Amino acid sequence: MGRSETRIAGKEGCMTSADLKTGIVPATTEALAGELARLLSPAAVVRVREPLAKRTTLRVGGPADVYAEPGGEADLRVMVRFAAERRLPLLVLGRGSNLLVRDGGWRGLVVSLAHPCFCAIELTEEGGRLRCGGGARLKAVANFAKQHSLGGLEFLEGIPGSLGGALRMNAGAMGSSIFDRVISVRFMDLAGVTGESAPGQLGVGYRHCPGLRDRIVLDAVLQGAPAPREEIEERMNQYNRKRWSTQPAAPSAGCMFKNPAGIPAGRLIEELGLKGTRIGGARISLEHGNFIVNEGGATARDVCRLIELIRERARAERGVELETEVEMVGSDE
Ligand SMILES: Cc1cc2nc3c(=O)[nH]c(=O)nc-3n(C[C@H](O)[C@H](O)[C@H](O)COP(=O)(O)OP(=O)(O)OC[C@H]3O[C@@H](n4cnc5c(N)ncnc54)[C@H](O)[C@@H]3O)c2cc1C
Repeated sequence: MGRSETRIAGKEGCMTSADLKTGIVPATTEALAGELARLLSPAAVVRVREPLAKRTTLRVGGPADVYAEPGGEADLRVMVRFAAERRLPLLVLGRGSNLLVRDGGWRGLVVSLAHPCFCAIELTEEGGRLRCGGGARLKAVANFAKQHSLGGLEFLEGIPGSLGGALRMNAGAMGSSIFDRVISVRFMDLAGVTGESAPGQLGVGYRHCPGLRDRIVLDAVLQGAPAPREEIEERMNQYNRKRWSTQPAAPSAGCMFKNPAGIPAGRLIEELGLKGTRIGGARISLEHGNFIVNEGGATARDVCRLIELIRERARAERGVELETEVEMVGSDE
């Protein structure tokens, strides 16, 4: 939603986003956050002007007007309805490993399923299946599966996201994608209504899942494949070695672009001679052309300018239209 359309109805009345720039907003944002907090359980967290840079792996971007962690599904329902009634733009934040938050931050409500009640992982009664919370870390899912001698999920270990973010992105690595292993996904829609779908109902594609665009993943059932624990461990080690020999360690958001037809984006960027190019504190990684790293002090604007540079060169020199895999969210100022 554009800034000019944003309307926040706080205790002091209804304000336009033009008002937000004038300094009336701090009191209004606080009042709004207070109003939300009073509707929630004591387990919920509500913060005003929460910096998002520290909540994303790229470490850039401005604050969220209001940031909230529900303490359970009832709180989450209150939050989505609160946002809908007040027409507050809502962003669901996982572990922020596929997000580029612009320097102005998020005008509206950011919701994170960081509370432990959304991060549980357990075996289901059907053999070989796990039910995992939307906020669970992928690393924890892979390790839990390994502990129970369930293979097929090893590729998740090195992806620094949450289950919800991974399903939204249909994350994948080492020749597998998460939806290869999904039996069902339970979600809440933006009206606060819960539902459950099989993958076939969600329109899953390469690095996207349109059926989850306006839904919040509560949990999902994944299918493991029984295997000896040592075998699973060895596969994880092998994947780790492969990952860390090709991927930079500096802060990034992973692969910046989806692979276009015919050539991996990283190779294309390398062939364009762009590896190592720097703008401000951001640089196209020398290790992997499809990673933009924050070398310290980068702004979202630095990263966006590098993205534009790459896209222009790919278009002009190779006729390739690169599409970002990383989601760019928030406002510029
Ligand atoms: C070093 C590094 C390596 C990476 N390697 C890989 C890789 O090998 N393969 C790969 O596919 N990706 C990779 N990524 C990208 C990223 O880790 C994945 O896309 C990951 O699944 C994103 O999860 P997240 O929780 O961080 O989501 P976020 O970045 O927080 O959010 C991404 C999207 O998911 C939505 N979302 C988050 N939680 C939920 C929820 N509960 N319900 C509904 N929507 C939600 C957000 O609104 C947003 O639209 C890498 C990133 C880094 C930094």
